[in-house]
Amino acid sequence: MTAYETVIGLEVHCELATASKMFCGCPNEFGDEPNTNVCAVCLGLPGSLPVLNAMAVEYALRVADALNLRVPERSVFSRKNYFYPDMPKNYQTSQYDEPITIDGWLEIDGVRVGITRAHLEEDTGKSQHVGVGGRIHDAEFSLVDYNRAGVPLLEIVSEPDIRSAEQAKRYVEELRATLLAVGVSDVKMEEGSLRIDANVSVRTPGSPEFGTRAEIKNLNSLRSLLRAIEYESDRQWSLTQAGEKVVQETRHWDEESGRTISGRSKEEAHDYRYFPEPDLVPVEPTQEMRERVRASMPELPAAQRARYIEQWGIGAEDARVLVDVPGLAAYAERAVAALPGDSGGSAKDVVNWVRQEVLAYINETGLSPAVLAPEMLAELVALVAAGTISRQQAKDVLAESLRDEKWPRTIVEERGIAQVSDEGAIADVIDRVLAANPNVAEEYRAGDEAAKKKKWGFLMGQVMRELKGRGNAQVINRILEQRVAGE
Ligand SMILES: [Zn+2]
Repeated sequence: MTAYETVIGLEVHCELATASKMFCGCPNEFGDEPNTNVCAVCLGLPGSLPVLNAMAVEYALRVADALNLRVPERSVFSRKNYFYPDMPKNYQTSQYDEPITIDGWLEIDGVRVGITRAHLEEDTGKSQHVGVGGRIHDAEFSLVDYNRAGVPLLEIVSEPDIRSAEQAKRYVEELRATLLAVGVSDVKMEEGSLRIDANVSVRTPGSPEFGTRAEIKNLNSLRSLLRAIEYESDRQWSLTQAGEKVVQETRHWDEESGRTISGRSKEEAHDYRYFPEPDLVPVEPTQEMRERVRASMPELPAAQRARYIEQWGIGAEDARVLVDVPGLAAYAERAVAALPGDSGGSAKDVVNWVRQEVLAYINETGLSPAVLAPEMLAELVALVAAGTISRQQAKDVLAESLRDEKWPRTIVEERGIAQVSDEGAIADVIDRVLAANPNVAEEYRAGDEAAKKKKWGFLMGQVMRELKGRGNAQVINRILEQRVAGE
């Protein structure tokens, strides 16, 4: 139970996966040799002129469609002026009062979180502080890599509609899945292609007014996001309870100490001296462009989950995992499609294997699910459904299949572990056993419960011995029932 309510708004910076940078032809590539993907434009050399990347505009329109955002007829770029060594132009080309998209929403577990805007801007370079702690104040010197300067970013700003750290995490998960589905970014938080700033304030539950907020910068994992919001809201509430004031400021999350640390006091927009970028024309997406984007939109995660629940009869949590783990849903779809129609195996069986065994393997090895061909998994599910192997045996077969990239049926044949499920073959054996023990069936029918049990056990044992222990117990039971009890 908490005595206060947390109010959260998130700013998510998403690096767009275009081939080239936002305003020049330099490659947009993560991890290249420092300062190799640079030119006069992204270094801000005098006389250079920017040209807008059309693909970045198209990506913004895709996100607009996915997040229910409106696209005004025109938007403009502005210069956001500030000095920092990782920004060679001394201003960031961004959008200010006329962004490319406004007024959208994203639904999280039945609740709509408003999205104020998503605007285009360029990324900055990257400073590396060389010294003991890797931080600026104890660094001996700093290095700057401008490869990232000018990489296209989409900044997605939410309304202060989020009410808990957990809900903030769910919002980012859903947003990340959506951005990945529409193909605009690889959304890798660990590589910085998705970065989050959280605006956090607290208030008495039910209060109509917002408290003073702090902006926590550059949260680079979902775990940091959760911990930072929890720490910061507790800190603010303790201050309020002690009669002190929360200061409006930027704070940094320190992963090691588990605390947020005061940064600079928060700038106001007028500190940046925004003005329209004179070297770029306004962006006016045509109707034709918008329609082309709309026609090429893929299925969104929410619709995808609903489809699996409906068509495959799986639970909501199963559907969520399939959609959230990159590549897993596509893998499951291919495995389901590869199931032989007459195998008796179901899509639900396939999903169970994918969620448990295949996912455990991915988590353990860090490999993509494609290591095990989906067709191989389908074959395994069919072998279990047909009674050729038990579920327990199938786990061993799968482990070997993953390790040696071998087809399950080949492993079953090599190991000689196939169960005999063929009804004709089992009936033949049962008839032979009954002929060799002519009195047993008679004694079974005449006996009491204990005697029945004993005779049944004897017959089962004889049949299993003939089948070298590999008979399918269910089938044997059924046929014995017809031959002995049913007469
Ligand atoms: Zn360049």
